[in-house]
Amino acid sequence: MADTLLCLNSGSSSLKFGLYERDDGLALRARGKIEKIGIEPYLLAKSADGEVIAERRWAKAEDMSHESLLAELLAGIEARIGHDLVGVGHRVVHGGANHAEPVRVTQALLTELARYNPLAPLHQPHNLSAIHAVAALRPGIAQVAVFDTAFHQTQPPVATRIALPRHIIDEGVRRYGFHGISYEYVAQQLGGLDPALLGGRVIAAHLGNGASLCAMQAGRSIDTTMGFTALDGLVMGSRCGNIDPGVLLYLFQQDGMDAARVENLLYRESGLLGVSGLSSDMRTLFDSDAPAAKEAIELFVYRVARESGALIASLGGLDGIVFTAGIGENSPEIRSLICARLSFLGIELDEAANRANAAVISTPASRIAVRVIPTDEERMIALHTDALLTREAA
Ligand code: ADP
Repeated sequence: MADTLLCLNSGSSSLKFGLYERDDGLALRARGKIEKIGIEPYLLAKSADGEVIAERRWAKAEDMSHESLLAELLAGIEARIGHDLVGVGHRVVHGGANHAEPVRVTQALLTELARYNPLAPLHQPHNLSAIHAVAALRPGIAQVAVFDTAFHQTQPPVATRIALPRHIIDEGVRRYGFHGISYEYVAQQLGGLDPALLGGRVIAAHLGNGASLCAMQAGRSIDTTMGFTALDGLVMGSRCGNIDPGVLLYLFQQDGMDAARVENLLYRESGLLGVSGLSSDMRTLFDSDAPAAKEAIELFVYRVARESGALIASLGGLDGIVFTAGIGENSPEIRSLICARLSFLGIELDEAANRANAAVISTPASRIAVRVIPTDEERMIALHTDALLTREAA
């Protein structure tokens, strides 16, 4: 009987999943998403070749808690595959300083990871609640936590240090970095496509609702734009990115905001949404004629270029840029605008290849190679979950 793994990426309002067959090179069996959780949940699941295999909308009166949605998902999957799942791998945004590798979930681990909830309020509590729900629904099933912070554990101490007094640093206040599951996948793919480039100095740009850059040297993270929390760095869908800490003092002291209000402002009301006053979604901004939408796009691009400059200094030069995630994979306009700002580096974009979202979008003469690599965080979670369960069984 085939062994099947489920990989979950559980967010505040969405649950992405992938189903993988272990004895067939981790072949993808199905993938899908439940969106608009808490409002009007909608499930869409497709087979590996893109055929719709399940679709469901929840009515307002139905129980639509995360646990009940997961219960239905697990039951639907097990009915379809005809046997029980052998393991569930989870994206967990924050693993703190102790986890450079994925680990098997235990009660002690869950207690430890809950300490990081305030550091990633958009993600960590939802990642953990999916683990709790699976444990309640399928007691005894093997669960594995795969961390977004883990890939960045290779950074030198100088890149992770924050210039605050020692006693605060000693509490664990340091730069961690996120999107590591995506960066690890991108690095693996790049290693297959262009090993020489992976061996060099690369900026990987994960540009989605959340957005960050990772400086990779020989395939390892040496610096990144996100820091202690996933608020730092680039302008994002609804997060402000890098900000003068004096602004926070101003909000507390002059505007009289409390911490909960500031948290909401920084995580949910800022970024593209805040600047445009319209939307956190890049496509909506491109479809709009509003000057504020154009300003938001301009700021997004400007900050990617500016932060790239910082990472190029960390790397001591640059050999390649890899774009990934929703915006990075699908928006020729944004890639073109970013590369135009960085053209002083000797970047030459092949505009036709760029418009086609081709794998290589720089010209042969370009001093910097520019690539597009679609990310696949669920697959990376599956690879880790499979490897860990295999090691445990040996
Ligand atoms: P998440 O961080 O939620 O996984 P995604 O990686 O799916 O986010 O990225 C979502 C973002 O990608 C949205 O801003 C969306 O508008 C943007 N996006 C997707 N397709 C395009 C496109 N064709 N052009 C511009 N932006 C796009």
